[in-house]
Amino acid sequence: MKFEYYDVIILGGGAAGLMAGASAASRGRSVLVLEKSNMVGKKILMSGGGRCNFTNLNVTPENFISNNPYFPTSALSRYRPEDFIYLVESHGINYEERKHGQLFCKGSSREVLNALIKECSRNEVFIQTNYEITEIVDSSDRSNRIIPKHPNSNFIIKGIKRNKKSEERSEYCCESLIVATGGLSIPTLGGSGFGYELAEKCDVEILSTQPGLVPFVLEDNLLKDLRNLSGVSVLSEISCHQQSFSESFLFTHKGLSGPSVLQISNYWKPGDFICINLIPEIKTAPQFEDLILRKPNVMLRTAMKDFLPKSLVSYLENNWWNEHRNIPINKIPQKIIKEIYERLGHWKICPAGTEGYRTAEVTLGGVDTNSVSSKTFEVKKCKGLYFVGEVLDVTGQLGGYNFQWAWASGYAAGSFA
Ligand SMILES: Cc1cc2nc3c(=O)[nH]c(=O)nc-3n(C[C@H](O)[C@H](O)[C@H](O)COP(=O)(O)OP(=O)(O)OC[C@H]3O[C@@H](n4cnc5c(N)ncnc54)[C@H](O)[C@@H]3O)c2cc1C
Repeated sequence: MKFEYYDVIILGGGAAGLMAGASAASRGRSVLVLEKSNMVGKKILMSGGGRCNFTNLNVTPENFISNNPYFPTSALSRYRPEDFIYLVESHGINYEERKHGQLFCKGSSREVLNALIKECSRNEVFIQTNYEITEIVDSSDRSNRIIPKHPNSNFIIKGIKRNKKSEERSEYCCESLIVATGGLSIPTLGGSGFGYELAEKCDVEILSTQPGLVPFVLEDNLLKDLRNLSGVSVLSEISCHQQSFSESFLFTHKGLSGPSVLQISNYWKPGDFICINLIPEIKTAPQFEDLILRKPNVMLRTAMKDFLPKSLVSYLENNWWNEHRNIPINKIPQKIIKEIYERLGHWKICPAGTEGYRTAEVTLGGVDTNSVSSKTFEVKKCKGLYFVGEVLDVTGQLGGYNFQWAWASGYAAGSFA
């Protein structure tokens, strides 16, 4: 069986793990990344529709959700969007700013992944893919009665490297162990609960997890009524728990998706209603009345088509003003117009649930940040053990914030591990 010592071993070769590897190795530490799947950075490749929304120009701690809202501040201030932009530019990657300060590659996400792999190899980070961890032992814990094979060893990682035709058992030990195994979202892209299980074994608290940045599913009866709308996109403002997002949303064959729905899903809890304002540009009932009365002799559906897609107007007409469907606008009582305006601004829907981890971009909750130093990311009660990236209870909004968190937390841990 193979045995090797590294100063730092990183579990998980995703965004945070690769950044932590490059950061630690640039300080002269010997670094090994252990990745369970056949390649590193699968989520980076799939991100941003293949163009990787790698950061956002306007990153503040308010863009993140955590039980401990001040936790991200320190790391985000030590590794800023401009630091990652510098890395992107130094690798000659062309990028563009889209709305809300989101930065995307002009070419492909592959360029960001290649840049990180190059940073790792330039600093001699060793990457082992197809590696299945079978056991982790805290060799610094005297009660384990283990005599470390290396004087600096705090952890022993046992596992199997699998190739198509062969398997090789190995044992690695290290002084610092960085857990960067991400969350539960999209198992086919590496999503796993490994980091949570390890945290539990080390007596680190886990806060309950939930899929985030995820489409909603609707209950069957509502879905049946909305079936003709599948594929229709609407600019709206969606709110829940004092949070609102003004972007488009999309009717799907299962429910609702699109940017504003993904954003609000981060704040939604099962049983909550979401409130959709279908006419966010129209601020008051008199303004609404003025606008539709520009065509006083037409039916409401005709006037409404100026603001909303035709198929949505048909649904609303059938359900919200059916008895007034064949009456010209100037004959509809003002009270009814006001009621319709109110409904258009406050369409309350109670999603039956979400599409779950299968399609969620992120996992809410996770390793309790109260157990971890916000400066070093080392577990307060366990010397040499670090958690970074999505496995922690820090989740960004849609728009490049989650990668910025992965870069910033990975960089911070790599600077101390
Ligand atoms: C489809 C999709 C698109 C996204 N687009 C964007 C975007 O454009 N912008 C943005 O900011 N965010 C985006 N995100 C979110 C972003 O990808 C994540 O927040 C980020 O990748 C988290 O980084 P991480 O390193 O913590 O975890 P991950 O990137 O998930 O990496 C974890 C790694 O650990 C490995 N692993 C898991 N278990 C083990 C184990 N037992 N042993 C060894 N290795 C293990 C996994 O295989 C994986 O490689 C997207 C997510 C998805 C799913």
